Amino acid sequence: MAEKNKLMLELEEMQTQAHQALAEIQQETDLQKWHTKTFGRTSLLINVFSRLPEVAKEERPVVGHRANEIKTALETEYLAKQSAIKQAALQRNLSAEKLDVSLPGRSPLQGRLHPQTQTLRQIYNIFAEMGFQVYRSPEVETDEYNFELLNMPAYHPARDMWDTFYTTKPGVILRTHTSPGQIRAMREFAPGPIRVVLPGMCYRYEQMDASHEIQFNQVELLAVGKHITFGDLKGTLTDFARRMFGEEVQTRFRPSYFPFTEPSAEMDVECFVCGGKGCAICKGGGWLEILGCGMLHPVVLRNGGYDPEKYTGFAAGLGPERISMLRNRIPDIRYFWANDIRFLEQF
Ligand SMILES: [Zn+2]
Repeated sequence: MAEKNKLMLELEEMQTQAHQALAEIQQETDLQKWHTKTFGRTSLLINVFSRLPEVAKEERPVVGHRANEIKTALETEYLAKQSAIKQAALQRNLSAEKLDVSLPGRSPLQGRLHPQTQTLRQIYNIFAEMGFQVYRSPEVETDEYNFELLNMPAYHPARDMWDTFYTTKPGVILRTHTSPGQIRAMREFAPGPIRVVLPGMCYRYEQMDASHEIQFNQVELLAVGKHITFGDLKGTLTDFARRMFGEEVQTRFRPSYFPFTEPSAEMDVECFVCGGKGCAICKGGGWLEILGCGMLHPVVLRNGGYDPEKYTGFAAGLGPERISMLRNRIPDIRYFWANDIRFLEQF
């Protein structure tokens, strides 16, 4: 009797303690500890059967039966407690985070187009109204297309105007301007007429500062056909300037030099900040340099597949970043590609 009583008493004692401990538990983590202690590998409930030899043979079924009873009872209590704790946590959350269905919803954060995508699309739209289509050409170019076919053979001193990124593959470079696209468009469409804009990223091996970047956009304009004159060039570009900068804007053309156009010019627009009086933006001159242009050089026409005796054409190249900087008074070109959200969010 003494042996049976000892193990039995241990069991009863364990049940009482487990029952009391469970009643005080408030937290899920404490509940898990309690479960391990009560039903784990070292618990009395699991080990009671291996200790049955301590008890007289005829008493063993009674002890085993009682152990199972206690186990079932404690398991039921455990499940009840577990659900009570979950319920309490839910109630706490509901009262802490009261749902007010009458509150207006939060509007989702809307993305936007990069300022240069916006400027580029505006430029495309203006030229589209004049019948120019967008024509894209590769950013990785050959020396042949980037220089030679544009009337700049290897020895040509004008190559110094373009600091070039060369690749490890001889003759393959990153394009320094969008002009190689002229040759590609001409070779695709010759001898038909062409009106295209050639946009995209260009790369130069520059010392970066407020007005120099190693990457920047260019938009090239190309028109080829019969009877195209310098008057068409001036008319098209002046119309562009009016649509881009305002109906009243004045333009002027100055002689310039590019190896692939003849004659060549640069177009200025009257400073839209000071109205031509002179300010810091136009450096006191009253004019802003906007683009370079010219009539296609006969060598370039011939390289594109057109007979320069029968066909003429004009080209122009402008920098959309410069236009955005002038219009929005952006002091540093490096902002555009630095991926600083504080800058980009302003547009
Ligand atoms: Zn000015």
